[in-house]
Order: sequence, then C-alpha cells, then structure tokens
Amino acid sequence: MSQIKQVKDASDIIQIIGERVPLTKAGASFKAPCPFHSEKTPSFFVSEVLQHYKCFGCGETGDVFTFLQKYEGMSFIESLRYLADRIGITLESFRPSPEDELRDRLLGILDLTKSYYHYLLTEHEAGEVARAYLKKRGINHESVKVFQIGYSLSNWDGLISYLHDKKKYSLSDLEKAGLVIRGQGGRYYDRFRGRLMFPLTNHRGQVVGFSGRVLDPTIKEAKYINSPETLLYHKSELLFGFSNLYQEIKKADEVIVTEGELDCISSTQAHVDNVVAIKGSALTRDQVQLLRRAVSRILLSLDMDDAGIEATKRAIQIIKEFDLELRVVQIKSGKDPDELAQKEPAQWREAVKASISVYEFFLQHALAKFNAGEPEGKRKIIDFLAPIFGHITHEVERDYYVKKLAKALEVTDEVVKKDILTFKDKGKLSLAGTNAAKKTQTAAVQKTHQQKIEEYLLFLLFRSQPGQVLQLGKELASHRWSIVGANQLIKFLLATTGVFNLTDFAKSLPSDLQQLVSDLYLHPEYTPLAETLKLEREWKKALLELNEAAATQEVGQITSELEKLDQKRNKTDEEELKQAELLQRIVLLKRKIQT
Ligand SMILES: [Zn+2]
Repeated sequence: MSQIKQVKDASDIIQIIGERVPLTKAGASFKAPCPFHSEKTPSFFVSEVLQHYKCFGCGETGDVFTFLQKYEGMSFIESLRYLADRIGITLESFRPSPEDELRDRLLGILDLTKSYYHYLLTEHEAGEVARAYLKKRGINHESVKVFQIGYSLSNWDGLISYLHDKKKYSLSDLEKAGLVIRGQGGRYYDRFRGRLMFPLTNHRGQVVGFSGRVLDPTIKEAKYINSPETLLYHKSELLFGFSNLYQEIKKADEVIVTEGELDCISSTQAHVDNVVAIKGSALTRDQVQLLRRAVSRILLSLDMDDAGIEATKRAIQIIKEFDLELRVVQIKSGKDPDELAQKEPAQWREAVKASISVYEFFLQHALAKFNAGEPEGKRKIIDFLAPIFGHITHEVERDYYVKKLAKALEVTDEVVKKDILTFKDKGKLSLAGTNAAKKTQTAAVQKTHQQKIEEYLLFLLFRSQPGQVLQLGKELASHRWSIVGANQLIKFLLATTGVFNLTDFAKSLPSDLQQLVSDLYLHPEYTPLAETLKLEREWKKALLELNEAAATQEVGQITSELEKLDQKRNKTDEEELKQAELLQRIVLLKRKIQT
C-alpha cells in the first residue's frame, strides 16, 4: 500500500475538519457553514462513510488532503506530513514535488533569516542603534520576544554573506524568498538594510515575509518596506499578530484591526491583546475569512481619513457576507493607536470598550460632515447614508437608524425609508460573492428531468442498507444513463462480489467515479432529507418514474425517426418494415407510460 493511501485510510476526515469547522450531524453526514465561501445556511457536507467533503454553494470538494491544503494553505507534502505525524506513521520513501521542495526551502530560509535578524537586534553590537530606537519608542523586551523583532545590518550584503556565503543557500532561492534584489549589473544585494525588522507570519505562525522600518529619519527611503509577493507571501492574506495572539483573540471573540505593526505591539503592552495589524487601511475578504475562524466581532481602529472611510465602507460589504458584527474604535484625540496605547494606556482600553456600531459611526460622520440644517446638507446626508444603511439586514436595527436619522434631519421616517429602498432597488448594494450560488442554480436548471430522477435513484441506492445495494443495483442494470459516468459506475457496482461496503467500493473506483459517488451521496437537495425518507417506497416510486422518463425520451426519438421516414415518397421494403416496427414500439411505450 502506498504511504499516501496508508495515511489517508488511518486519518478521520470528520475529526480533522471538525477541529476547524463546527460540524453538526445531518443524518449519516455532517454539515457546517462553508469555510470556503460566505453563507449563513450550511451547504458544506462531510461524509464519514466516503471520507469526502462537498459544498453545494461554491462547489469545493475533496478529501482530507485537499481540505488541509485549501483551509490551512498547506502544500500536499505538508498535509501528508501533518497527518502522518498525528497518527504516528513515519514517511519513508516519499518524494515531494519540485514546488513542494521549493516551499520547504523558502520556509527554512525565512525562518533562519528571522533568527538572524533577531540575534542582531538582541545580542550583536551592531544592533545597538535599533535597541536605542526601541527604547525611545517604548517597545519592551517581552514584545521583542513575542513578535521576534529583529534588525538588518546597514551594509549591502549582510544577509547574503550569512545565508549564501556561510549557509550555502543559492542567491536565486534568496531572491524567491523576497530577501535579496538583483541589481542591473546582475549583482545581488540585501532588500532590507539598516531597518527594524518585523517577521510577517501566516496564520500557522510560519514566517513568510518581513516588514522593515527605517531607523534613521534623515534617510530618503520609504518609512516601511515589505517583502514583495512571493510563493509564500501574499499581502492580502496577511494579518500581523494573528498567529502570535490567536488564543487571546479567540478568547475575546472580538479582534481590533489596526493599520501598523507598532499599533498592534503597543496595544498588547497596554494589555489589550486581541489585536492585529493589516498594513494599510484596506481590510480584505481573505483577511476576514481568517478572522472569522476566531471571532464574531471586528473592531476597526483605522485612520479615518478618506482612504479609511472608503475602506470602512468596503468592510461593511465584506463583513455582511460573513454575518459578523462590525464596530469602530474612535480615538477622539486624533492620536494613532500606537501613540495612545504608549502614552495613555488606560485611554486606549477605554476607547476599545467604547467602540460603536459601524452604522452609528457613519451617522455621526455624516452629521459632522454636512449641515443638517439646510436642504442641500440634508440631501447629501441621505445620499451618503442610504447605501450604507441599506446593508443592515436586521429590520429592527435598520428601523432604529432610520428613526435616528429622520430625527436628526427633521423629516419623517417614511422619507428616509423610501430613500434607502430606492438605493436598494437601483442595485447599488449588489454584493460580490453571490455568483457561486447563481452558477449552481443555472446548472440545476439545465439538468433534464431524466437526469434529476437518475440522481435521486442513485442517491437512494447509496443510502440503502448495505445488504440491499447489490440487489437494488440489479434493477438498474438495463437502464441507459444520461449522467456522465453512471453507466460505468453501475458496471463496477454489478461486478462487486461479497458483502457490499460503500467505503471500500468508493475506494476501489477511479477518481472521477469516486467523485461521482460522493456527489450523489451528498446530494444537496436530498441529503438534508435522508433521515426522514422512506427509502423503500421512494425507491419504487423513483424507479417507475425513471422508466417512464426513459420511455418518454425514447418516444421522442422514435417520433422524429418516423417523421423522417414519412417524408420519403418511395420507401424501400426495409424502410416500410422499420416504420411498422417503430409504430409498434411506440404503442408499447405509450402503454407503459400510461400504466
Ligand atoms: Zn462553499
């Protein structure tokens, strides 16, 4: 047996997924809101029998390996190693793919770089300038340790001489890790020089890149430089602090989103530990996907300049898809979180406690920005708020803000309500992310009647008692299937000997048929009903319907053949005979349909 198969067989997909997603039992399967797309009603099903998962909203499907790759961002080899470790299997003769090998190497390089920078900051004499800076900024030893802060030498090849000259890593790998730049003459030099270094980790705590802050304010360079996009570093997915502070964030069930590393670090020093930094003001869907694994509430603490206001509006849209609560932390003094947490830690804690709903925030913002005393100002306020309030799904909540706004503008509730509805109707609120659902719907519409009955029958077949499956399968032997792969699947089924077992049967199939069995077994419409269906009665009914649908289809074919024959003036004897046969067949079929 191959080691992949050995590891897969010994792993339990229900346990692996259940540790990450709240699964609830749904008959013989488990279900949950899909971790891969945004939805409120669960369409993500996991089958214990088939060791397979499938989402009917977005179509994600696969086994325990693909789940870990997709959910944890692991490579195949990482998922294999992870599972093998858990069950205590030693992987021996396994050859990773070249890409997996590269990922492994880059992770190793980045981790070593982190330790190297950290050493320079904490122990080397060259790090004195950075240590002095940290002291001035009030960053303590504990934070340096928790966030593994470091320092990069100011010369052009500090890292190169360590990693390439000494540790023998290739310059090309260092470039792929985003650590060195190839100059015009082909010479490589360090990307980060003379900077305070913040390791950027993915949600599993692996270093995937760096952010470097300049120490000498007179240097004419960007204040911060970051790793470029690489195989491992994707800016839109990165949440500084998330892996370091995950336990605190999860415990609090809410997270404060700040803009920069120092905001995040200073906040922890002020004993507010449920905090991350997004590096800029735009909270992305990928970041929200990660955050929602830990919290139900997101508190934005961004610079509320124009960019921050726009980012907050976009955040409303994203967060609504995920059914999370969005609040805003206001700092009245105009300081950033870093400064406030450093100078007035108690005030920072107060500001967090006093966070307000994002809708309240925009109401206050609009009333401060425009003059509610003038008709022109009233119109601007409504124009600004209507699309925002239109996103409030809960009616009681929306009504609350409608009343508040109407009072502030001295108009009736109806006027405000009407304006919000107008915006809704214009489709200005149409959200991205519903495409997947639409696609599945159209796919369902395009299925023929016969295909639907076929799906139902095969669903019933695989949900039957193991002792009955082969017997029932025989009743399907003569049917010509319109579902792709079903003819072959039934052939495999009828060739099975001994006691039928769905898990073993599925494993014995080629992978496309395995997928078909999984799709049928976890059918979106029927799976939720599986427990209440009277299988035997449903089977008889569906089988009759299938025969009828097949007969109807045949009648259609014969009719068109007959029409062709009718158009011929001089028929051969053979054709005459054929015509008679077809007519007889049609009579038989019609009788069959009627009974
Ligand atoms: Zn999905």
